[in-house]
Amino acid sequence: MTRSGFGQTRSMSTVFSKIVNREIPGTIVYEDEHVVAFKDIVPFAPVHIIIVTRQEIPGIASLPETGDHLHLLNAAKTIAEQQGLTNGYRLVINQGEDGGQTVDHLHIHLLGGRPMAWPPG
Ligand code: AMP
Repeated sequence: MTRSGFGQTRSMSTVFSKIVNREIPGTIVYEDEHVVAFKDIVPFAPVHIIIVTRQEIPGIASLPETGDHLHLLNAAKTIAEQQGLTNGYRLVINQGEDGGQTVDHLHIHLLGGRPMAWPPG
């Protein structure tokens, strides 16, 4: 927490940390010591889940040597199984402006429940 110029207390945490910490609502479908997963608020597929590190890593471009990101893929596999995505699915990580990243907190999109087109837009 920091003090803004207007004397208000303001949280520096990302919108995803606020979901992780139950400060704002989110439909959480999975969590463990390293990651939390919740439904995307604007789903692009029947299953669209955001898997986020508990640690506030801004993105792929600033990965620490070790940390919660090392557990993202295993969590994605587990969640895909839990969601019944036996016919396949897609994992997406957006990095930076050209990558279409809008939330600077490392996350994987898990998309499934329909065939995915290629190449992506
Ligand atoms: P990206 O563009 O890769 O950074 O992905 C950010 C994703 O977070 C987008 O698909 C948004 O729809 C999703 N998102 C943003 N805010 C929320 C929220 N409060 N709850 C769930 N998903 C969110």
